[in-house]
Amino acid sequence: MNRIDSKLAATLRQPAELVARGLVRAADLPDLEKVAARYAVSVTPDIAALIDVSDPDDPIARQFIPSANELVGQPGENADPIGDDAHSPVAGIVHRYPDRVLFKLVHVCAVYCRFCFRRETVGPGRPNALSDAAYRDALDYIRVRTEIWEVILTGGDPLMLSPRRLAEIMADLASIDHVKVIRIHTRVPVADPARISLAMVDALKVGGATTWVAVHANHPRELSDTARAACASLADAGIPLVSQSVLLRGVNDDPATLEALMRAFVECRIKPYYLHHADLAPGTAHLRTTIAHGQELMRALRGRVSGLCQPDYVLDIPGGHGKAPIGPNYLSHDNARGGEASRETRYRIADYCGDVHFYPPEP
Ligand code: SF4
Repeated sequence: MNRIDSKLAATLRQPAELVARGLVRAADLPDLEKVAARYAVSVTPDIAALIDVSDPDDPIARQFIPSANELVGQPGENADPIGDDAHSPVAGIVHRYPDRVLFKLVHVCAVYCRFCFRRETVGPGRPNALSDAAYRDALDYIRVRTEIWEVILTGGDPLMLSPRRLAEIMADLASIDHVKVIRIHTRVPVADPARISLAMVDALKVGGATTWVAVHANHPRELSDTARAACASLADAGIPLVSQSVLLRGVNDDPATLEALMRAFVECRIKPYYLHHADLAPGTAHLRTTIAHGQELMRALRGRVSGLCQPDYVLDIPGGHGKAPIGPNYLSHDNARGGEASRETRYRIADYCGDVHFYPPEP
């Protein structure tokens, strides 16, 4: 495998730098300049080190290296694919469900994922942090709504903030009596694990609220030794970890890769949480699978790994209608055996091999 020496590399942000490092062909440069003019590019040394430049279909490269396919839009794609705007009462807040809010603190990330559902709003050139006044307004919004139990810091990547600023924000949130849980969604432990310093871990622990961290990774290779060490430092500090992944064509849309990814999470004390069906973000059709294929993969996963390794396969319903589980259905009414007409409802239930049984069983 011909991987880049991370020690020699700096974060790559320009298509010409990707050409110079052998990550894209010089002939593709004009198209990639067009892509980069619209969507941010950033490949950290840790991520570049994972890319096998001899593999034209490398699953790490597919996630981070821009492609001319991003210039091709498809019907149904939308700059706000999960409908954040419809639920944003004040800047920085998305309030879709009664008991929780998203709090978007920053618009920058360590890396820019080519499938990002917020690709139209993250990256340099966009306002990269809430103003002080907007931050205070967002806190006030949370403070006066006692039903808000959980605040989810997202963005952008909240772990791009300095430990000192994060500690202030965590303290502000934890000082609100009804905020009991602060959840941080981040790609930093895999994309730039050195940022998970002792100071960062300390900043995330706060009295008065419980911190959870959701780690975003999509391929088992992303859980490198350094990423595993970063996750371990969070887990050792008593911070519970969950995963979020996106189902991506050519990255993790086969049973063996998904299995390895989920096993890697559990080995790192990260409970698999969400496997997202890829959102209808502009220029991302080449990375999306079908829902039917996602359901097949979830069926296969059920047969290969324990419940500890099972994420929920979910779709964010376009228009801001929230998440729905879309995994395969194992249970159906057995109308042929009486169904609603019988005294007790009878069900057909499929096991992990696909064999059908009845519940209750025949006497
Ligand atoms: S880290 Fe998250 S917000 Fe940032 S580009 Fe990737 S998916 Fe989008």
